[in-house]
Amino acid sequence: MTIFRRIILGEIPSYKIYEDAETYAFLDISPASPGHTLVICKSEVANLYELSDADLIATARTTQRVGRVLRDVLQPDGINVVQNNGAAAGQTVFHYHVHLIPRWENDGVFAFWQPQSLAKELMQELQTKLAN
Ligand code: AMP
Repeated sequence: MTIFRRIILGEIPSYKIYEDAETYAFLDISPASPGHTLVICKSEVANLYELSDADLIATARTTQRVGRVLRDVLQPDGINVVQNNGAAAGQTVFHYHVHLIPRWENDGVFAFWQPQSLAKELMQELQTKLAN
């Protein structure tokens, strides 16, 4: 059982922001910025690939709802929506969750990626493989 399952069950305390039948939202214990919130589905699902349509929709709905609350209450300059799948992508808790990270100009919280330039042939090869 993951730590998030135990939070849903009330076995571990959390700073709850929102809850409905399918989802639960709470403050990240080690936030990237003030207000960093996690939205989780109540089903025991490890990642994006395993998510049912119903849980996908419910989690997206709660992500938007909580995002609007963060926007209205904390008035950040922006919000990053981050969702990690697999250890290589930074996932540490294997229970599907979405990060909402409020951002302020020049907060230096993180740079997501270094933009690369790929050869046209590789771009076309990727398109051929992926567009099915
Ligand atoms: P990820 O790296 O995408 O799997 O994100 C997991 C997140 O869960 C991290 O940002 C942790 O800080 C957060 N986290 C871990 N345990 C707790 C907890 N007990 N309460 C709140 N957030 C937690």
